[in-house]
Amino acid sequence: MADIVLDKVSKSFPDGTVAVRDVDLEIADGEFVILVGPSGCGKSTTLNMIAGLEDISSGELRIGGQRVNDKAPRDRDIAMVFQSYALYPNMTVRENMAFPLKLAKLDRQTIDAKVDEAAKVLELTPLLDRRPANLSGGQRQRVAMGRAIVRQPKAFLMDEPLSNLDAKLRVQMRTVVSRLQKQLGTTTVYVTHDQTEAMTLGDRVVIMRGGAIQQVGPPQELYDHPRNLFVAGFIGSPSMNFLHAAVDDGKLRTAIGDVPIGDRIRRELEAGDAPRELILGIRPEHFEDAELVDDDTRRRGAEFTAPVDIVESMGSDKYVYFTLEGERASAAELEELAADAGADFSGGGASLVTRLSAESTVREGGDRRVWFNLEKIHLFDPATGRNLT
Ligand code: ATP
Repeated sequence: MADIVLDKVSKSFPDGTVAVRDVDLEIADGEFVILVGPSGCGKSTTLNMIAGLEDISSGELRIGGQRVNDKAPRDRDIAMVFQSYALYPNMTVRENMAFPLKLAKLDRQTIDAKVDEAAKVLELTPLLDRRPANLSGGQRQRVAMGRAIVRQPKAFLMDEPLSNLDAKLRVQMRTVVSRLQKQLGTTTVYVTHDQTEAMTLGDRVVIMRGGAIQQVGPPQELYDHPRNLFVAGFIGSPSMNFLHAAVDDGKLRTAIGDVPIGDRIRRELEAGDAPRELILGIRPEHFEDAELVDDDTRRRGAEFTAPVDIVESMGSDKYVYFTLEGERASAAELEELAADAGADFSGGGASLVTRLSAESTVREGGDRRVWFNLEKIHLFDPATGRNLT
């Protein structure tokens, strides 16, 4: 087993594309790290450099303390799992899993023992004599993983391994991957564009955009304390609402009423460090039907009334969309940032998404009074995207 260290690693392709720039990342021995970000952000290129499938243009990569920039993939002692299972159709499950061990010229007995053990971990024992054509998608992916784990490599690198599976199977396989990683304790780097996978699987999540790391941390930390607008919009589903907020007379004027400015931001504003126009960010679950809020809770928030657009009952709660009127943010860049992150930017006549309790009697059509938690709001600088809260 081994730690993996990327020290100012960059990758430029011959056509001039800089796919990864100055990435610093330390992955501890046994850690499960997820690389996530929108298409083209450089996550696969980063993984491929760790695997040795792409050359590193500058910087240093160390695995287990050793510089491996110039080491061939087969000498790095790591195993990759891709979204395409790449199983040999003419071989049985057992032969597929045994293949890397045969290449390594292990004896028959050792190979059988290792395959049996891996099959047990992955619950593949009853399927060992089948061929890939007679397996389900999830079973095939488990065989692909089995082929990776029999080698007992220093690290696993996984590139969207579950993306070919249907939604239900993906959820099941998520638990398989997570359990497997814990059981084996092997350093794992896992690439996905699915933020739910990122939130549920790893010890730490690395959020990338445009070839650069935006933030690294445990999933909950990224969710609660996104460093910038991009991370805030990318993590969470439905995404955080973004509203234009103008500093005016010690308050923020927004499409959902006036919001008081906290002490820290007030100080930044007074020092001239914060802009006069901000972006207010509120997650859907930090709203509640005002009728359901007790007095204690009410004091921690603010309220507004808005026309109800759509009500989606999820059983456990309700997603309620409101139409808002108000100005759009002045910075066009903000909308771009938000759109990049897959988030809606709510400005003039845009929609606000809230998650209210199932007991709410809210109905489509009329107006509704809504409470939101002031302790959970975020404020962003529209020019830089930086989270000021
Ligand atoms: P996806 O989720 O779509 O796979 P990704 O985050 O994994 O995206 P990469 O595949 O790492 O992104 O690509 C990062 C950037 O590098 C993209 O802009 C891509 O077009 C570019 N790129 C990848 N391979 C090459 C190549 N061989 N030559 C030139 N540019 C490339």
